[in-house]
Amino acid sequence: MVYRWIDKSLKTIHKANWYRSPTEIDGRPGAEIQLDGRRFINFASNDYLGLAGDDRLVNAAVDATNTYGTGSSGSRLLSGHRPLHRQLEAAIAAFKQTEDAVVFSSGYLANLGTLAALVDRRDVIFADTYNHSSLKNGALLSGATVFDYPHNDLDALTALLQQHRSHYRRCLIVTDSVFSMDGDICQLPELLDLGDRFECMVMVDEAHGTGVFGDRGSGCVEYFGCRDRPLIQMGTLSKALGSLGGYVAGSSSLVEFLRNRAPTWIYTTGLSPADTAAALRAIEILQKEPQRRAKLWENVNALKQRLTETLPPQFQLLPSNSPIICVRVKDAATVLALGKTFRDAGLFVSAVRPPTVPSSRLRVTLMATHERHHLDRLIEIFLKLK
Ligand code: PMP
Repeated sequence: MVYRWIDKSLKTIHKANWYRSPTEIDGRPGAEIQLDGRRFINFASNDYLGLAGDDRLVNAAVDATNTYGTGSSGSRLLSGHRPLHRQLEAAIAAFKQTEDAVVFSSGYLANLGTLAALVDRRDVIFADTYNHSSLKNGALLSGATVFDYPHNDLDALTALLQQHRSHYRRCLIVTDSVFSMDGDICQLPELLDLGDRFECMVMVDEAHGTGVFGDRGSGCVEYFGCRDRPLIQMGTLSKALGSLGGYVAGSSSLVEFLRNRAPTWIYTTGLSPADTAAALRAIEILQKEPQRRAKLWENVNALKQRLTETLPPQFQLLPSNSPIICVRVKDAATVLALGKTFRDAGLFVSAVRPPTVPSSRLRVTLMATHERHHLDRLIEIFLKLK
């Protein structure tokens, strides 16, 4: 039987405690959610500003569906282009203060398509080892030679650039701005300096930075004051913007080029009217309501301080600069058991294991809509852990 290997592989996955299956959440997303008929405090969401369940986004999606229907019904270059798409792209460009932007049907597709368009087998990519799966697979799809540098290690990156850069035509340095499974951030100004020195393009994935970092909330590029430096900014509409979709923002020529060369933009159906309208509304709200971001950071600082003071010694708080806060745990079986302890106590906390990450960890993500009593309960359970 040619398919028998699948069951064998599944058995191996189970044995290693790597087996995963989705959890069904009922009702709207938020700081509290309904799961298996019970109410849980949610520490596992990317909806940092609490917008995914906001009535204003829901109404924008409903209105757009009433006007334009449910599906875009074609790729953007054929019959799937709607006025809402250009409005959203203009709003993203204004928010990011770039010349233009292009919206993809997901962040994953944005990364795949952009890397595949920018470089090919004559070229080279230098990538942080902790980069998101979509960047890793985009690099593979591009056909370029890929050198992974150790996480955030710029000396190692410099050495790799010195050794290999000159053997290739174009060069791209690519990094997450906020590392999704650790919560620390990249050293963007220094990466851009290396880009200048070695003639490399620099691409930054702002999936977890957008809506969270910077005085205007536009991301780590703003936070680091790097807006005027030439770079390729990618992001997603699916986290702080509470919708679905991805984008690339940058110069007009970059965006024009991607519209002609990125296969995951050209050959896929345009973003749905509902998702497009919801994201557009989210960008308006997040600029008009900076108090949401302020509340998020208040929660982040409070939780970090309390965990630093109270975490039992067998747990290690990983370095983080963001609302993603991870506690390292010795192995996959232990993290699964701890995840269950939190579940039993009515808290939804992610237990993240290999192969997603190199070492097992509890991953807590904070939202602007968490209240003091939510954080108190989380700390209470951490203190009870042995
Ligand atoms: N980049 C990073 C860093 C991410 O964390 C994610 C989502 N987990 C993506 C890209 C993909 O974005 P999307 O969910 O919109 O496909």
